[in-house]
Amino acid sequence: AVTIGVLGLQGGHAEHAHSLLNVARSHALPPDVQLSVRDVRKPEHIADPSLDALIIPGGESTSMAIIAESMGLMQPLRDFVNLHKKPAWGTCAGLIMLANHATHTKQHGQSTIGGLSVTVDRNAFGSQRDSFVCDLAPPPFSAPSSSASSASPSATVPASAPPTTTPTPFPGIFIRAPLVSSIDAPSVLTLCTVSHKGHQGPVAVRQDHILGTAFHPELTQDTRWHEYFVNMVVEAKRAAAAGQGGSGSG
Ligand code: GLN
Repeated sequence: AVTIGVLGLQGGHAEHAHSLLNVARSHALPPDVQLSVRDVRKPEHIADPSLDALIIPGGESTSMAIIAESMGLMQPLRDFVNLHKKPAWGTCAGLIMLANHATHTKQHGQSTIGGLSVTVDRNAFGSQRDSFVCDLAPPPFSAPSSSASSASPSATVPASAPPTTTPTPFPGIFIRAPLVSSIDAPSVLTLCTVSHKGHQGPVAVRQDHILGTAFHPELTQDTRWHEYFVNMVVEAKRAAAAGQGGSGSG
């Protein structure tokens, strides 16, 4: 079983929980994976060892940071992401929270969780009325690694082959969204970019266990980004279990 928490301080947390439950109900997950979803609002929720991963929703990152700070959540959040290195996904304001650097934050004394080696430009596309929807590349094909029953070395055909047809675009909803203005480490992968009215750059990035999207997959009926994240969590949990249970040598 994997347990994913959604930070419920402010913004679109209910929508993320809804999307995760849709993934749990679909047949998108490996049959041995059971997904449970939790609301995370208190330091003890974050420190609970049974929490495997966290989604930080969109909303307003200054408000979110102020609430997190006042509730004593900032350090537990930093420990969760950067010390225990559990998977985290930030959407929009959540991406700003996870970025190591963000524009227009310092003057408010806004603190972030950090961990993602990128700089984000807040409100890069303009004001609320400049919000838009556009087609994006879908998340990369990702099948959870079949650890135990690995095929014989002679098998060359993958269990599930990547799609050969052009994938259906993902509906990207941008609401006063940030844009990644610089990638600050080679380990940051750009998963998707946008070009809109003269503004262009990465809008989905991943660095190891951290995923950030500038848009709002939780506001669509398309659960592919949620599936992608759940698979990240499943893989991270398997890798952690293998690390603990393994020989430990080397
Ligand atoms: N503009 C918001 C911020 O800077 C983010 C908007 C969103 O999450 N939809 O925090």
